[in-house]
Amino acid sequence: MGVGMAKATKKKTAAGVHDHRRCVNRALSSAERACETQGKRLTPLRRRVLELIWDGHAPVKAYDLLRTLAQEHAGAAPATIYRALDFLQDAGLVHRINSQNAYLGCNASDHPHVGHFLLCTSCSNVVEFENDGLAALIDEQARAQGFHVDRQTVEVMGLCRSCQ
Ligand SMILES: [Zn+2]
Ligand SMILES: [Zn+2]
Ligand SMILES: [Zn+2]
Repeated sequence: MGVGMAKATKKKTAAGVHDHRRCVNRALSSAERACETQGKRLTPLRRRVLELIWDGHAPVKAYDLLRTLAQEHAGAAPATIYRALDFLQDAGLVHRINSQNAYLGCNASDHPHVGHFLLCTSCSNVVEFENDGLAALIDEQARAQGFHVDRQTVEVMGLCRSCQ
């Protein structure tokens, strides 16, 4: 899947076709607010990486980001992109989808949370949901095993409503 911002802004998701520009604008302005609150700096490159990740509601691979950025900045090196991705993850603006080795923009960057994801194996769209009860249950099960949880990521594969 390629990344390119200038193309159509209509996106199809599990919820149907919508004006994706609004999602991108909302994501970028809440990212600016989140960085301000956390005393972090959303540099133009970090902002651009976030914008590219918000190309749609499907996770974006670092490789695709690099390809697009290399066309825009002559000096865009993999290390630069990975540093920007680390920053965006630390700031809670993106999640890493481990099963796809890709990154997804977060809708709820204003508060720390455990991300749970429904991944459609047909259209690649991902829906994030939060459930404190589920997160607590996993913690409890881990504790019972004497296991210390560093980070939780729950990725559920299947078919979204429109792909069934
Ligand atoms: Zn959207
Ligand atoms: Zn999230
Ligand atoms: Zn789907």
